[in-house]
Amino acid sequence: MRSAPRQRPRRAALIDRVLAEAEAARDEIVAFTADLIRIPTVNPPGDFYRECAELIHGRLQEAGMAVQYVAAEGRPEHTPDHPRINVIGRSGDAGARPRLHLNGHFDVVPPGDDWTVDPFAGLVRDGRIYGRGASDMKSGIAAAVFAVEAIRRAGVRLHGAVDVSGTVDEESGGFAGVAHLCEAGLISAENTDFAIIPEPFGPARVCVGHRGVYWFDVVAHGHTAHGSMSHLGHSAIDDMGALLETLRTELGPDLAARLSELPVVPEPSRRPSLNVNAIIGGQAGETSQSPCVADRCTATFDRRFIPEEPFADVRDEIVGLVKAVEAAERGRRFTIEDRMTVHPTWAPRGSPVVTALSRAVQSVTGADAEQVASPGTYDQKHFARIAGVEHCVAYGPGPLEEAHQPDESCAVDDIVASTQVMALAAMELVGPP
Ligand SMILES: [Zn+2]
Repeated sequence: MRSAPRQRPRRAALIDRVLAEAEAARDEIVAFTADLIRIPTVNPPGDFYRECAELIHGRLQEAGMAVQYVAAEGRPEHTPDHPRINVIGRSGDAGARPRLHLNGHFDVVPPGDDWTVDPFAGLVRDGRIYGRGASDMKSGIAAAVFAVEAIRRAGVRLHGAVDVSGTVDEESGGFAGVAHLCEAGLISAENTDFAIIPEPFGPARVCVGHRGVYWFDVVAHGHTAHGSMSHLGHSAIDDMGALLETLRTELGPDLAARLSELPVVPEPSRRPSLNVNAIIGGQAGETSQSPCVADRCTATFDRRFIPEEPFADVRDEIVGLVKAVEAAERGRRFTIEDRMTVHPTWAPRGSPVVTALSRAVQSVTGADAEQVASPGTYDQKHFARIAGVEHCVAYGPGPLEEAHQPDESCAVDDIVASTQVMALAAMELVGPP
């Protein structure tokens, strides 16, 4: 208590120095973001991961970190043509605690059409940086790296330490990326107390977690016949049509009536949903027209569920409806094939990482931080489930709405603000007393 009056001004001075260093690094932050965007790390298939890992490796080394590459040895997607290379930098002494981990994925989704600028040029115009990954989430990686750099340049000695990693494959589940680092013990509750993933929620929003996903196929099995005598067959496409109609009219209203406590954004995503991602019907193994009754139809479903819906109930509900449609007409047969399940994940209420980020948002932007949750999943699930690092959230620059869109962009001011917020949060979580 006696030293408090002396410490308070000292702490304020340190904070000012760190904020000033982040601001002074503005051009470097933009240049590094542009350099990241210029490496087209498109996933699928997972292009140029090695080159991007090398770029991040170099930058972390310049920031004085001990850096290592971690290839996803043993994973089937780690191939000579498309090696899955992650990179992780550690600051401070090996045993320093508490430790904060800043993690960003450097893969991006394919650019798609309708761009008015080159998606891989890293163009900066009117205070925004453009390109695939500008929002999701190469600007976030730059902000994380320069948050650590600003602390170092300000000469602040941390009590604990901050680690930074750049990882692959988040867009395809993160199994060769964050999940691999967690399984290898490189990220675990033994060596990590807090984690921040700079996914693009914007400079004043802290994302506490995400909804769950149940991805599955339903296959309708019919009976083929000549198309001119269709009464001799049983159409799998007609059966699928009946199932889709039942799901739309019976399950649809039920889902629309459920509302999550989790502050999912955008607002309509606070309710669970069922989307038909794809549908393929016709003769098994054929893609061209033929005069036959379809004996096979497969639909891929994407069910997003909220924490209030236990997964067993989510699945039972689907199974029950499929069985009811099957029983409604003789000759109908469906099978269900599960593809992937991710359970909803969220940081504990009152988590210090949420508190630290919220305070930092308030000091840097002057606005109250908004707590949100993500409609889709991201690597937080691996931190929580595999590594046991519960105090993990997403916080980073970039408008969420521009993720995966043509002309994706991020405001330079937002990248700098997020750099400052992450630096202040790091100081509160692991910094000087
Ligand atoms: Zn992302």
